[in-house]
Amino acid sequence: MSQFPQAELIERIDFSEDLGMFKFRPIDMQKPNFIPGQYATIGLEGDDGKIIWRPYSIVSSPYEDFIEFYIELVPNGKLTPRIWKLKVGDKVWIRPRIVGKFNLVQEVKKHIFAATVTGAAPFISMIRTQIYDLEAGRLKEPHRFLFIHGASRSKELGIYRNELTEISKKFDWLIYIPTVSRPWEDPEWTGETGRVEDVIRKYSDMYLFSYKDSVVYACGNPDMIQNVKGVMKRAKFPEDKIEEEKYY
Ligand SMILES: Cc1cc2nc3c(=O)[nH]c(=O)nc-3n(C[C@H](O)[C@H](O)[C@H](O)COP(=O)(O)OP(=O)(O)OC[C@H]3O[C@@H](n4cnc5c(N)ncnc54)[C@H](O)[C@@H]3O)c2cc1C
Repeated sequence: MSQFPQAELIERIDFSEDLGMFKFRPIDMQKPNFIPGQYATIGLEGDDGKIIWRPYSIVSSPYEDFIEFYIELVPNGKLTPRIWKLKVGDKVWIRPRIVGKFNLVQEVKKHIFAATVTGAAPFISMIRTQIYDLEAGRLKEPHRFLFIHGASRSKELGIYRNELTEISKKFDWLIYIPTVSRPWEDPEWTGETGRVEDVIRKYSDMYLFSYKDSVVYACGNPDMIQNVKGVMKRAKFPEDKIEEEKYY
């Protein structure tokens, strides 16, 4: 048995055969404190009895009493096929310390978020947290976010497309651009098309998020991150104004 605490699966929503939302309630531990953008490390027992641990960015806000993740199944992976077998009530191991440095740069007020699919997780946590902070009067002036969220097909954006679209309608500080790179497989899709790196410059220019006043954050697929860094460096963003979180 592990010396680590556990968390119980309390809700699961499958967006497609390999993407979903997993919501856990920590048990036998205090709900861990964290900064939006950080990741938790969760584990399940492998065939040899050893725990397989992997990091997952937290979608939920520290103000919420559950820990939510947006997870992709890697078919031949060690941990995710085991996560896919979980049912409500099942438990995972969780490391009590939530860590990571992919956090909002507080001194800057304008932020460009670039995410492939599950790479949206840290940004959703930042956005939810800003709503709680504004509502509670802890934050006077909201940060402004331009959020480019890419996927091959729109269903991969899951429940988060709706959540973020609704927030962007309610608050002018969020501009949310979901974009689909395989529109021919998604005939109903009428929104933006192309990869994140194909459209990020267009929207940062359109909404006046420039190297003079903004920071870029790229999260998820390493190729997207590399390409976004190239595009934004050509838009004069210095290295230290481009933050990254590679998932693999
Ligand atoms: C800081 C951090 C935060 C992360 N947050 C999330 C998150 O919020 N959601 C999430 O789904 N994943 C996230 N990941 C990735 C996650 O930790 C695992 O790597 C992933 O779930 C695969 O685990 P696995 O054991 O099933 O596969 P593994 O056995 O670890 O990997 C098998 C192979 O697949 C590759 N691989 C891993 N992930 C992917 C992928 N998504 N697509 C294609 N190939 C891949 C690996 O490089 C490896 O070669 C994060 C990673 C890091 C470093």
